[in-house]
Amino acid sequence: MPGVVIVNTSRVTGLDATDPFQLSKAEMIGRRQCGQIFAFLRRHAVGFEKAVRMDSAPKIGVRESRHVMGLYTLTADDLFHARPFEDAIALGGYPIDIHSPDGAQTDSTHFPPDSIYQIPSRSLLVAEPTNLVVVGRCISATHEAAAAFRVTPIAMAIGQAGGVLAAEAVLGAVAPSQLPFGQVKKRLLAQGARLP
Ligand SMILES: Cc1cc2nc3c(=O)[nH]c(=O)nc-3n(C[C@H](O)[C@H](O)[C@H](O)COP(=O)(O)OP(=O)(O)OC[C@H]3O[C@@H](n4cnc5c(N)ncnc54)[C@H](O)[C@@H]3O)c2cc1C
Repeated sequence: MPGVVIVNTSRVTGLDATDPFQLSKAEMIGRRQCGQIFAFLRRHAVGFEKAVRMDSAPKIGVRESRHVMGLYTLTADDLFHARPFEDAIALGGYPIDIHSPDGAQTDSTHFPPDSIYQIPSRSLLVAEPTNLVVVGRCISATHEAAAAFRVTPIAMAIGQAGGVLAAEAVLGAVAPSQLPFGQVKKRLLAQGARLP
């Protein structure tokens, strides 16, 4: 929309998002930062003298907290070597992008040009309970691997695959891990998924 600017600048580090008290504290710090950034822009940025603050996020965004321990734990090494998986359900190319907990910097580690990594369905599944499918950021992966696949397009592809795994398991009355993977892949490809 002309005249509307989105500012993606605040940063809250060093707090544990699994602790509700620390999460509340992070929320308060984030809101305070939004006010400070807005005041700074009005005072110093050309064109912002009469700016009005329209909105801020309904709640603080968390890059990472817990992961499940799944049937396969995806690692940075898998991503670096674009390791092929027979049960690949999503692809990615986003680099390892670690927002340093000390707040000092963002460490980005890029993969070779045109490198495409794979995410196996086993990282969405756990040994117990057998009827659980996990999607998005909290799949089974190391911190470094998660710093790459956590971005929205890849999280969406993982979510789509999780939905297909769950639906096929219900239709076949089996646990998701017992599904013939060809059946899952066929359904994903029919839905337009990009797979190896
Ligand atoms: C500050 C920040 C900036 C980012 N910038 C970018 C960026 O520029 N580009 C990019 O690609 N990615 C970016 N990301 C990463 C990306 O947005 C997230 O990693 C991604 O959205 C994660 O998807 P998800 O499915 O795991 O979780 P979410 O998108 O958080 O989805 C989880 C959903 O579950 C819902 N939910 C939670 N509990 C319940 C419940 N009990 N019952 C029902 N529903 C529930 C939530 O409301 C939410 O809608 C950013 C993340 C952060 C925190």
